[in-house]
Amino acid sequence: MIEDFQLKMHREMIPIEEIEQTLKTTGDVSAREARSIIQKAEGLKGLTPDEAAVLLQCRDKQISGLLYQTAKRVKESIYGNRLVLFAPLYLTNTCINNCLYCGFRRANRTLERRVLSEEDIRSETETLIRDGHKRVLVVAGESPRECGIDYLERAIKTIYSTKIGHGEIRRINVNVAPLHIGEFRRLKAAGIGTYQLFQETYHLPTYQKVHPSGPKSDYHHRLTALDRAMEAGIDDVGMGVLFGLYDYRFEVLALLYHARYLEKKSGVGPHTVSVPRIEPAAHAPLSTNLPSAVSDEDFMKLIAVLRLAIPYTGIILSTRESAGLRDKLFHIGVSQISASSKTYPGGYTETSPSNNPPISPFNKGGLRGIWDKAGFERGQFTTSDLRSTSEVIRDISQDGFSPSFCTACYRVGRTGQEFMDHAKPGHIQKFCLPNSILSFKEYLLDYGGEELRKIGESLIEKQTAAIQDAHLRKATLKKLQEIEMGKRDLYF
Ligand code: SAM
Ligand code: SF4
Repeated sequence: MIEDFQLKMHREMIPIEEIEQTLKTTGDVSAREARSIIQKAEGLKGLTPDEAAVLLQCRDKQISGLLYQTAKRVKESIYGNRLVLFAPLYLTNTCINNCLYCGFRRANRTLERRVLSEEDIRSETETLIRDGHKRVLVVAGESPRECGIDYLERAIKTIYSTKIGHGEIRRINVNVAPLHIGEFRRLKAAGIGTYQLFQETYHLPTYQKVHPSGPKSDYHHRLTALDRAMEAGIDDVGMGVLFGLYDYRFEVLALLYHARYLEKKSGVGPHTVSVPRIEPAAHAPLSTNLPSAVSDEDFMKLIAVLRLAIPYTGIILSTRESAGLRDKLFHIGVSQISASSKTYPGGYTETSPSNNPPISPFNKGGLRGIWDKAGFERGQFTTSDLRSTSEVIRDISQDGFSPSFCTACYRVGRTGQEFMDHAKPGHIQKFCLPNSILSFKEYLLDYGGEELRKIGESLIEKQTAAIQDAHLRKATLKKLQEIEMGKRDLYF
């Protein structure tokens, strides 16, 4: 049951009637108006929800082309051509909820449940470090008894303390069920970067239908989680919608209202936005029977609109999407990407080449993986981009992007408001390009094969030459030399 005061607060945060009215009145706006909204977005001041609604509903192909080109320019002028890489690390698949779309739901009786031990976590971390990763996103089902805050603190400590040669994880972001304020304080003290939580759907009746039981059925507790996280001192928070549950146009506008609400309340909006689309999952009836499927075309459009609407917010794209579509989306606004992800606990260790994993007969391309009897991967959901991390890095480098493993901002305290203060006058560009070059150099030396090193070195040369400030260029060249000599973890 949702209480009256909760409904009132919900309306204040997400004005549902207003969103529905906006969608009605902006459905047939002229191409001329859409064009002028896109032009305005070039100024990097964002869009109002009404303006976003116009672009989301515009079906004119020429306008879509203009939208994509502008999203690309907006991204480049704020972030340059960097793509930041990370990998999810699942700690457990135990869960007391029953989300109709998820393979970890309690009602999935055939799934073998597992909570990683300290030794397992170390082994997963080592495999990710050997793959070149410096950032992980800790993910877990909701199981307060086995995976409560004490367990999370220990897991974070284990991940940060795992080192192999020069390799280590330097930033841990977290995507776990909503916590109470004291627990958020402990997460902050454990040294996390971003706390992410997806509302899944902002449409209350749909939310209630797809979350039939367990603590997640409390919409209000979830909607207010990012407020608690910020109050607890976590100033980088990430939000998201699970696309496929309800009308994507409503969801994008609701997310924009949520972002505005946070910005108004605490002076800073979300650090990142994630855009997961529902993928097939074992024993999750709704995952293969979507109430509101989002086509690739609409998905591209909504990402470009988000880029224009909240230009200083990172957009995260996971391996749920296919390699072909991801490669297109990298050009229209995405700034952080995962690679070679495993979506179940222990996945990296089990499938690492040294363990000689079996080849799944169900897997596309005959790649190695683990599956269940129904032919699904035993992950939380199926992933589509099955490229290895080094393949993703090779492909994006050849496409002109600068792969980045940088974690500098968070480690020197450029987070929350401080991050925005640097971002808005264009300082991200100034620090981030050299930092991405330095972190890529480390990757190439420590983990790159011969072919990748060749591609990467030539990219580094070009990008260093493109640093406009002569002092900064010189300082970057000096740091690159130091990395060649064996120093690591250098940044501005
Ligand atoms: N269990 C916590 C929760 O639900 O908040 C932590 C995050 S959950 C492990 C990670 C996210 O996976 C969910 O928030 C949901 O958006 C997404 N997800 C669940 N099932 C999915 C599916 N079938 N396809 C794509 N994404 C899915
Ligand atoms: Fe549990 Fe999260 Fe999956 Fe829901 S989405 S069943 S809460 S792991």
